[in-house]
Amino acid sequence: MNKAIPRGATRINQRLKQFPRRHLLLASTIAASIMGLMALLPSGDVEAKRNEIPMPIDAFQSQETTTELTGSSTPSQSSPFISNNDTDKSESSIKELEQEAEAKALAKAAYDLEQRLGKWHHVTIKSGDNLSVLFNNQGLNASVVYQVANTPKYGETLARIRPGESLEFRINQEGILTQLRYVKSKLESIFFNREDEGYRAELVTLSPEIRPTYANGTIESSLFLASQKAGLSQNLTMELAGIFGWDIDFVQDIRSGDSFNLLYEEKYLEGEKLGDGNILVASFTNQGQTYTAIRYTDSNGDTDYYTPDGKSMKKAFLRTPVDFTRISSRFNPNRLHPVFKTKRPHRGVDYAAPMNTPIKAAGDGRVQFSGWQNGFGNVVFIQHPNNVVTVYAHANKLAGLKKGQKVRQGQTIAYVGQTGWATGPHLHYEFRVNGVHRNPMTVKLPDAAPIAKSEMASFKKRSELMIARLEKQSETLLATQ
Ligand SMILES: [Zn+2]
Repeated sequence: MNKAIPRGATRINQRLKQFPRRHLLLASTIAASIMGLMALLPSGDVEAKRNEIPMPIDAFQSQETTTELTGSSTPSQSSPFISNNDTDKSESSIKELEQEAEAKALAKAAYDLEQRLGKWHHVTIKSGDNLSVLFNNQGLNASVVYQVANTPKYGETLARIRPGESLEFRINQEGILTQLRYVKSKLESIFFNREDEGYRAELVTLSPEIRPTYANGTIESSLFLASQKAGLSQNLTMELAGIFGWDIDFVQDIRSGDSFNLLYEEKYLEGEKLGDGNILVASFTNQGQTYTAIRYTDSNGDTDYYTPDGKSMKKAFLRTPVDFTRISSRFNPNRLHPVFKTKRPHRGVDYAAPMNTPIKAAGDGRVQFSGWQNGFGNVVFIQHPNNVVTVYAHANKLAGLKKGQKVRQGQTIAYVGQTGWATGPHLHYEFRVNGVHRNPMTVKLPDAAPIAKSEMASFKKRSELMIARLEKQSETLLATQ
C-alpha cells in the first residue's frame, strides 16, 4: 500500500510531461472555470485566496496530504478480519483519489501554462473576415500572419477559414502569439505552437462517445412523417430507406400500418449530441412481411448490411444507374427509331437526365470498353460475373477508365450527354445476359455476395447479439406503454 502512493504520484508526473495539448486545453478550461467560480465568491474571500497560493496549486498540495493520510490505514496494518467488500471499497476510493489528484494536477498545469503563454481569446469567424484583420484585431502584425500561414504542413489551411469556424489566440505579456488554435469543428482543430523559429502545427482530432439509441415507428401516411415522430433525422431516414430499398419500393409499396424499429449510434462530445452514427440493426415490416438487416464489418474492413442468415441486403446490380428525370424510351423490340424512322428494336432503356449527371456502374465488374462507338457515341461496357454485360451510351464525358480496370457498384463511370445518335441528353442503358439483351427494368437481379464462409461464425454471433438487443428494447418499450 505504501508503494502505491509514490507509484501514483510518478504516474501523474509522467502523464503531465507527456500530456497532449488537447488535454492541457481541457485543463485550461477547468482552470478557467475555477477562476470563474472564484470570481463569484464574496470579494474578501477571493482576495484572500488570490493573494495566498493560487487555488489550483493549493488544491494540488492538500491532495498529497490526503493521500498520505489514507496510506496510514492500509489493510496490512488493520484487522486481519477485513472483508473483501472493504478491500474493494478502499481500492475504489484510492482510484477516486488518484483521479482527483490527476484533475488537480491538470488544473495546476493549466494555470502554469496560462501564466507562461497568456490567456485564450476566442474569435468566431464571420463572413467577410480575413486572416490579416483577425490578427490585427488581436494586436498582431502582418509578419505574424505571414509566419503562421507559412507553417509547414498545416499553415495553408488558414487560407481556407470559413464563417462559423473559430480561432483562439494565446498572446503572452510581451505581445507574442504563443499558441493559435484553429477550430474547424468540435472534433477537429489545428494547433500552432510557437517555437524558436516560427511555428509548428499539429492536427488534433477528438473521437466522440458513441451511444446506441433505439427508435421505432408505425407509418400512418409516410415514412418521413413516421420517422420524424420517432425522432430520426432526415439523413438517418434516408439511410434506413437505403438499407431496405432493395426489397421495398418506398414510393409504391408503403402502406399504413407498416412499422420499423432500429438501433443506431448517436455521437456525443462532453454530453452534447454531435450527430448520428450508423444504423446497427433495423427491421422493417411492409404489408405483413418483416425484413431485418444487421450491419457487419468483415475482417477485410468491408462493411455492409445482411439478413440474419448472412445474405446481402443488396442486389448485385442497381436497377437504374442514373438519377433520371423521366424514362424517355422503354425496352421495346418493335420500336420505330426516333432518328431513322424505321422499325428498329430498342434494346435498352433511355433515362432522360440533365447534361453531365453522373452515370454509375450498376454493379461490380471490369471495364470492357470505354471510348467512342458509332451510334452509341461515348460509351462504357462493363463485364460482370456470370456473363452479364452492362452498356452505358451517349455520355457527354467519360470518367477516364481504362480497359480491364475494376469498378465498384455506384462508382461514376461517365456523365450524361447526347453524343452519337441521340435527340437529347439521356442515358441509354442495356443489360445483357450471355449476350442476350434483357429489359433492365424487369430483369430479375441477383443478390450481392453473402457473408463469406470464413466470416459466418463471427457474423452469426454479431447477428444474434444485435437482434436480441433490438428485441429487448422493443419489449422494454411495450412494457412501459
Ligand atoms: Zn436508347
